[in-house]
Amino acid sequence: IYQESARLTHLIHDLFELSKMEEGKFSFNLEWIDLSEVIEQVTLKAGLKAKEKGLEISVDLQKDLPMIYADGLRMEQVFLNLIENAIRYSEKGTVFVQMKRSNSSEILINVEDTGIGIPQTELPYIFDRFYRVEKSRSRDFGGTGLGLAIVNRLVELQGGTIEVSSQVGHGTCFVLRFPLISKEEP
Ligand code: ATP
Ligand code: MG
Repeated sequence: IYQESARLTHLIHDLFELSKMEEGKFSFNLEWIDLSEVIEQVTLKAGLKAKEKGLEISVDLQKDLPMIYADGLRMEQVFLNLIENAIRYSEKGTVFVQMKRSNSSEILINVEDTGIGIPQTELPYIFDRFYRVEKSRSRDFGGTGLGLAIVNRLVELQGGTIEVSSQVGHGTCFVLRFPLISKEEP
């Protein structure tokens, strides 16, 4: 009963946030942030969970990247969701987090795992609210199926994009891109 009520609280909170985003009633606290710091924080937070499951987290962040204009707490939420998924849906191996400047105008972040993967036929739906791959499979993992819907909206609303590729039994890779803008024209 305790577990179910905790899950319900989590669900109501997520659903409320998502509705606010969709109704445009959601405000961001935009400032110049160093995304490396955010990602370091998140990997530190997620590290314990990974260790408990015997998973490695490998972090490779290009040095001296320009700051980006975004909401630090919301970015933390984005990467925590992705990294927690990578841990939750992996039985072995490593979660790779990589950040680099892909060209002059954007920053690229990969969150890749060596987990159970997602079937090609399910990939188009994973950003939908309440969608969970093979419900019976997912029940064992906890969660409500709102995480990626929130991630998708948060990335979009901050001017970024998110893409996913996956291979069942091998792993999943999320690629995020955020535009670099000059400080004169935020
Ligand atoms: P929560 O709302 O707690 O995040 P959730 O993890 O089930 O619950 P999402 O994060 O939205 O929900 O993910 C949707 C579904 O996509 C998951 O149920 C899972 O089946 C699949 N999925 C997401 N990330 C991965 C991953 N890295 N590897 C394999 N499957 C994944
Ligand atoms: Mg999730």
